[in-house]
Order: sequence, then structure tokens, then C-alpha cells
Amino acid sequence: MPEQKTIYADYQATTPVDPRVLAAMEPYWRESFGNPHSSEHILGWQADQAVDDAAESVAELIGAASHEILFTSGATEANNLALLGLAKRAPSDRKRILVSAIEHKSVLAAAQSLREREGFGLERIPVDRDGFVRLEVLDEMITDDVLVVSVMAVNNEIGSIQDIAAIASLARESGALVHCDAVQAPCAMKVSDLAAQADLVSLSAHKVYGPKGIGALYVRTGVESRVEPLILGGEQQSGLRAGTVPVPLCVGFGAASSILADEKGQLERARVGRQRNEFLSHLQHAMPACEINGPLGAVRHPGNASVRFPGLSGQDLVAAMQPRIAASTGSACTTGVPETSHVLSAIGLPRAAADSTVRFSFGRFTTEQDIANTSSAVLDAVRRMQDGPAI
Ligand code: PMP
Repeated sequence: MPEQKTIYADYQATTPVDPRVLAAMEPYWRESFGNPHSSEHILGWQADQAVDDAAESVAELIGAASHEILFTSGATEANNLALLGLAKRAPSDRKRILVSAIEHKSVLAAAQSLREREGFGLERIPVDRDGFVRLEVLDEMITDDVLVVSVMAVNNEIGSIQDIAAIASLARESGALVHCDAVQAPCAMKVSDLAAQADLVSLSAHKVYGPKGIGALYVRTGVESRVEPLILGGEQQSGLRAGTVPVPLCVGFGAASSILADEKGQLERARVGRQRNEFLSHLQHAMPACEINGPLGAVRHPGNASVRFPGLSGQDLVAAMQPRIAASTGSACTTGVPETSHVLSAIGLPRAAADSTVRFSFGRFTTEQDIANTSSAVLDAVRRMQDGPAI
């Protein structure tokens, strides 16, 4: 039997590095390998310039200024720095933290540690069936003792695109800061207004066709004095995050941001959205019992297809599709841990329905053929599971 190529349908877990990104990074491993903090020689200056340019590109993507971008090891660190860093310098009369019920674990765990160890009040903002923050409830929850409201721009499991502007305007009324985990946003929506809406924004390069191991935290000018660094050492990055910045990774992140920032980002999102819709219509035509989690239309990540297969286990289905299709149940970050997705529970799904979910996610390198092959592989696997083991 000829070996079949695996089709990648897990773009929300991570993305392959774009060849243009790889090419941009290449000189910074061996030729311009200087330490950007070596201020006395030309190799240091070159590296420093490359990091500045990269910060400029990342900043431009979200409408920020380059000095407002802090490079981190990823979004997990950025989310931790935002919440723990703000908490360490919280005024004594702002000790409540509000996070949406469908945040990523790196936000939830950081916030939970503040409740358990530092005595902060932690409340989860409920979401509706489509995963949208219930603004009327948030309005009631926000009072002038709230330190920060943390809501992700785009959900990694079900693709809901939040109205960050509306959330920010509620928070501002009571002087609370707004943190937005925007890791999934650049591939899903135009993000050039994000820095104007939130005070802190977390990003990750490996979700936008850049390298793994680098992310960023945007900190609005004026807010940096309210963030205590978590990593201490040299005075790199204005003392807010010590350590030599990884130049090739920064350059890659910058290149990936520039590719998404121009108008081609919009075209790509539209094409991916059409492919995703085609996939869903194939599935629903062949299996009318399938149901989609999350919202439909423009308020959904164009690459996200979170589908319930009633009566089946999502984990078994993903296993049955190996090695043909790379997809996931729930979010990749919790894969391996046998627990029902907190996101699917928060939108009101009973356990059995949540556990019957598979998330397919498509992106830049998905082809029409991939879409057709993915749906036929799903149907194949479902039939095999329904027929039971051959005797
Ligand atoms: N937030 C969201 C919404 C994510 O999807 C992820 C990655 N699964 C993260 C944060 C963590 O990002 P990183 O892998 O860069 O630490």
C-alpha cells in the first residue's frame, strides 16, 4: 500500500514555519549571530537592529509602538507576566481579577495561583452557548476594586471572536486594566486595533507561521510601571524581562507578523474560511447528525471547525484517523489529560457531547485536495467505528 501523507488539520495547535520566515531567520544563526546586548561592536549593533526591526513589525500588526513590545518565550509566559506582574504591584484596593470562563490554561492557572497564594478574588465571567462573554453579566461584575479583566480575542477550541472593544469600554469605566490573550487572533481577524483596545496583549509566533519558543507581551505606555518583572537579571528589555533575546526567533516572529499584516492576511482568511465551510458542508451532508460547536459566520475563526459526532468518542475518532489526519480533541494543550474541555463545559455542553468533539483547524497551506481528503478520512473512520471491529 503506498504510504499516505498526513494531512495537517491542527493549525490552531501550531502552524508550520512559513518558508519566507525561515529565510528571514537564516542569517541570524551563523553570520549575524551577535548578542543584541553587546553594545560595543558591530555584530552586537546588527543584532540589536534586527531585534528592533522585529519588534516594529510585531507592534505594527496590532497597532502598537515598538517600545511597547516585550519578547517572551511564548504566550504562556506573556500571560503569566501580564497577570502575575500586575498582581505584584496591585494597589491595595484592587484585589479582584475577572477572567472569562473559556480562557487558556495559562491564564486560568496564573489567575488561580493568585487566588490561592496571594488572596486575590478570582471570578470567571460566564459565556453564552457560542462562547461569547455575557456583557450584561460582566457589567455587573466590574466594580472599582477590579485590577484586571482578562479575555481572549479568539477562542482556541471553538473559534469565537470576542468583542474586545466592548469589554474594554466596560472595564475602563471602573478603572480596571484589560489583558487580551490574542494568540489565535492574527489568523482569524484584523488585529490592527487591538493595542488601542487592550492595555496588555499576548501573542505567540508559532500560531502565526513563525518559530516556536517566542511570543510577546504588548504593554501600553504608562502601564509598564505597574508590571513587576518575573525574570530578573540584566536590564534587557527595559528590565521588564531579563535575558538575552533570541535574535533569530525575534526576526522570524517579525517576518511572520509582516506577512499577516498586509492585505494578503485578509485574502488568506477569506480563502481558509471558504475551505472550512466546504469541509463542514461535506460532513453535514454525509452525516446530518454532526453538530458544530461555537458561532457561525464572521464572528468565528475562519479556520476552526469544532464538530460533535454524537455517540462517538472524539478521542477514539482522532485515533482512528491516524496517520491520515492530524486533528485534535479540545485544545492541544490539554491533550493527554483525560478531562472534559472546560471550554465546551462553559458553553453548556453535557459531558458526553463535549467528549464527542473533534477540532479540525485549517490554515495557510491547506489545499482543496486536503479538504476533500480530510472529509473522506473522517467518514471512513466514523464508518469503521460504527461497524465495530471486524470479526
Ligand atoms: N493562549 C492560547 C489561546 C493558545 O491557544 C495558546 C497555545 N495553545 C497559548 C495561549 C500558549 O501559547 P504558547 O504555546 O506560545 O505558550
